[in-house]
Amino acid sequence: MPKNIITGYPRIGEKRELKFALEDFWSQKISFEKLESIAKNLRKKHWKYQKYEGLDLISINDFSFYDTVLDTSVMLGAVPQRFQEEDKKDQYFAMARGSKNAVAMEMTKWFNTNYHYIVPELCAQDSYKLDASKILTEYAEAKELGLPIKINLLGPISYVALSKRTDGEDTFEFFNKITAVYNELLEVLSKLDDTVYIQIEEPVLSTDDNLKVLSLIKPTYDKFCSISQNLKIIVSTYFEHSNEATKILVNTPIYGLGLDFVAGRENLDTLEDIATSSKKLIAGVVDGRNIWINDFEASLTLLKEISSIVPKDNIIISSSCSLLHVPYSLEHEVKMESEIKSWLSYANEKIIEVNILSKLFFDVDVSHKDVIFIQESLQKNKEANDARKISNKIHDKKVQNRVKNNSKFERTDSFESRIKLQKEILNYPDLATTTIGSFPQTPEVRKSRSEFKKGLLSKTTYEKVMKEYIDNSIKIQEDIGLDILVHGEPERNDMVEYFGEQLDGYGFSQNGWVQSYGSRCVKPPFIYGDISRPKPMTVEWISYAQSKTKKILKGMLTGPVTILNWSFVRDDIPRNEVSEQIAYAINDEIADLQDAGIQIIQVDEAAFKEGYPLRKVNKESYEKWAVDSFKLAVSSADSRTQIHTHMCYSNFNDIIKTINDMDADVITIETARSGNRLLKVFADVGYEKEVGPGVYDIHSPRIPSVSEIKTQINSLLEVLPKQQLWINPDCGLKTRKYDEVVQSLKNMVEAVNLVRNQ
Ligand code: GLN
Ligand code: ZN
Repeated sequence: MPKNIITGYPRIGEKRELKFALEDFWSQKISFEKLESIAKNLRKKHWKYQKYEGLDLISINDFSFYDTVLDTSVMLGAVPQRFQEEDKKDQYFAMARGSKNAVAMEMTKWFNTNYHYIVPELCAQDSYKLDASKILTEYAEAKELGLPIKINLLGPISYVALSKRTDGEDTFEFFNKITAVYNELLEVLSKLDDTVYIQIEEPVLSTDDNLKVLSLIKPTYDKFCSISQNLKIIVSTYFEHSNEATKILVNTPIYGLGLDFVAGRENLDTLEDIATSSKKLIAGVVDGRNIWINDFEASLTLLKEISSIVPKDNIIISSSCSLLHVPYSLEHEVKMESEIKSWLSYANEKIIEVNILSKLFFDVDVSHKDVIFIQESLQKNKEANDARKISNKIHDKKVQNRVKNNSKFERTDSFESRIKLQKEILNYPDLATTTIGSFPQTPEVRKSRSEFKKGLLSKTTYEKVMKEYIDNSIKIQEDIGLDILVHGEPERNDMVEYFGEQLDGYGFSQNGWVQSYGSRCVKPPFIYGDISRPKPMTVEWISYAQSKTKKILKGMLTGPVTILNWSFVRDDIPRNEVSEQIAYAINDEIADLQDAGIQIIQVDEAAFKEGYPLRKVNKESYEKWAVDSFKLAVSSADSRTQIHTHMCYSNFNDIIKTINDMDADVITIETARSGNRLLKVFADVGYEKEVGPGVYDIHSPRIPSVSEIKTQINSLLEVLPKQQLWINPDCGLKTRKYDEVVQSLKNMVEAVNLVRNQ
């Protein structure tokens, strides 16, 4: 019996080899055969590492050219009609990225992570048909290397729950058709060997949605297990507890349950059920979502607690979820301070942690050399964790006291009195026009920024380039006739990193890439210590921009919740406290901007919705502290200063009350693709603050016509009065080209003028 496994391993490659190969293939620099051979070598390398570092089973089918949910669709033959004409070789990437003939399938966030999956599309006309070739190929490759194998699959309940139907009907209508293909697959897999370990991931069972699907669990998994004695089926959940499902799964003949004890401590409540049923418990104790070293002592205590109920013989040690969500290896972090580095653990280090924990926990017979290594690791782990607890890099009494003594956290006046003052002072028209902040990031600006960072460009030259950019963007905005201007954000590479780099308590990796979608990776900064702002972060640029125009310039900041949600966050204090510390830094920045004469300040909360926990019981507390952080951040604005916020979402139906509680004077949102349909909720709840629903989609190079925007504005006016509406694009313009932007904004302003005169 295996003693230690991981849920899954990243696939993009430690030097992002797969990313570059994919992009070369897409731009026809390499052949498909070449891409395949690069992928094959990567898989081999990844498996060998897992084996070498002592995992008892290595995971296959966690590899993907784009996304494993998309792979599942292909495996099931769930290929939407519009791609069926595509050449077999192009079909897969056409589904992911679109082609000449067909628009791409929708992509959305994988639960509360920053990984995106391709949403399966189900349709009544579909007939599903098994294509096991990918799994069989990977199986054969691993077998040839003589490796012990665990086959990873996405479970049918989660697959169907994550799918959508073009006609909006219930996807579960097709559940039986889908499971029939799974049955067939398991039949095929069962013939591969006398014992075949299969990990079926069912993360949906960790959400509140699971209540709808509980009745499907038993018949589905009874059937799966009846297919062959050879199958050892592990059902894995993660990101939360899955207690309701566990109580059912223990009454099916599955081999084991994989549970997340990091994000779902409540899983401890079902240990009795697991023990009684003699199921194996795959105990996820090494955090697959964060980058901190494990605390071996704490994990061993937890494992002891578990083994006081579930017999030790039935326990397998594991990561809490796939390691897909963390970077590869600390080996490449050569510039990082060694003290900070000693607190971190990426995927490769986490595998070693799983191995050492299992050696310590099971007290297995190992050679003398290993005993020394394990004892040393335990000692080193303890020292690093102890040092981290008291390091002065982390603890800043001033910041801690400020949080402790927090008294003022909202604005003094009510919205009604604020907006009256603001309208008087700022004197902007109804349907005021503005943009979301960034202007196109030109190659020149990118180059200057990166050369300046590397020390290849002097500060004077760098500032000159940035100022020229600002001058130009101000001139463009004035020529177009926008009402409220922005500086264009040329100095920012990324809306979180820019602030993180200027805050104490923030760390940056050199090679901490994590897959976001397809070939796209992000390198999230990490918060290791108490957050403070040594000096103003944006005041110079924004004041400079304001000095260049008589019009009102809107200052641009990122909000505390978004900064938090797009970073790896320290795990030694609660998230809400970290968020509060960031809020203070933003609070100070707003005070400084205001002192410098900036009258409108936008605090972006693009990632506000992403931080929502999976379970309703935890949602309320998140909403409370997230709103409080935002309010704290903007509470330094006096009544005359207008606070905007921006969110990259369109659907506010379930969070409108929370949006209202944030108390921003103006919110700009991403509704261009939904007409006025999703705006209705603002009217329905009697939302009184001002709203800027995006009137055109910035994600495509297409230039919207005047009449199209006019129609859009008129449809917005059916929902909200003109005094309450702002007119702006959907989101920042940094990914677009200048000629697209200028023409689109011209059309937008012209459309507004037509509507104003109508
Ligand atoms: N102010 C930012 C920009 O315009 C907002 C980006 C975002 O919301 N993702 O780029
Ligand atoms: Zn946006």
